[in-house]
Amino acid sequence: MGKVYLTGAGPGDKELLTLKALRLIQEADVIVYDRLVNTAILKEAKEGCECIYVGKENRHHILPQDEINALLYEKACEHETVVRLKGGDAVVFGRGGEEALFLASRGIAFEFVPGITSAIAVPEMANIPLTHRGKSVSFRVVTGYEAPEKGYAQLDWNSFKQDETIVFLMGLHQLQNICTQLMKIGKPAEYPIAVISRGTLPDEQVIVATLDTIYEQAKNLPTPALIVVGEVVTLHHKLSIV
Ligand code: SAH
Repeated sequence: MGKVYLTGAGPGDKELLTLKALRLIQEADVIVYDRLVNTAILKEAKEGCECIYVGKENRHHILPQDEINALLYEKACEHETVVRLKGGDAVVFGRGGEEALFLASRGIAFEFVPGITSAIAVPEMANIPLTHRGKSVSFRVVTGYEAPEKGYAQLDWNSFKQDETIVFLMGLHQLQNICTQLMKIGKPAEYPIAVISRGTLPDEQVIVATLDTIYEQAKNLPTPALIVVGEVVTLHHKLSIV
């Protein structure tokens, strides 16, 4: 019986992989990976390693979650080292916890291997620090994908604090609604917001605008993309001059 490593692959840039993740990828007998994983990382796998794509993003699952769980179980029964590789960090909106519960319930050994989450790294590499003295004292990472029928909590829009940075993952298709809701709770139309598409990758695009103007400018950006809202967004222009 082998072990499954629920491993974060980082936000895109291959160099944002941890040393631990790299070692496990090099040792793996099987790698089960998602759409958001930069496939350049798979070149590090040893010869004969079986790499299985189970790409999923939002609602467009290629393999349903229960089949992914069953696959991990099956591979762990046959091999010593199974790496379950996910974009960013495996548990930040990554369903790593669900996979861990499934494996634990069947007596399969597993370990979480933290990855650099896109929620922090993508804004940071776009010159938007999530906290900054005088601009933001906290940040919150939320899903823009609201589906109460599937168990995702509906957002309590009124709970957002005034000087808090908000990062929306999986939110590009909800961009208009997000702006409308934020203006409804009293944020001014000229409040800063950014959309970052394919962050940390060579074709990254950053759009900085305001709540009333961002939608038209950013709605057609390629995915993955995330949204940052807050005064810290104004730092982007100041920090992007060199
Ligand atoms: N577990 C991942 C997040 C999974 S949810 C992590 O920790 O990063 C998927 C969402 O993450 C996407 O819809 C997008 O909002 C965001 N995302 C992931 N990689 C990204 C990237 N390179 N650039 C911009 N957004 C990204």
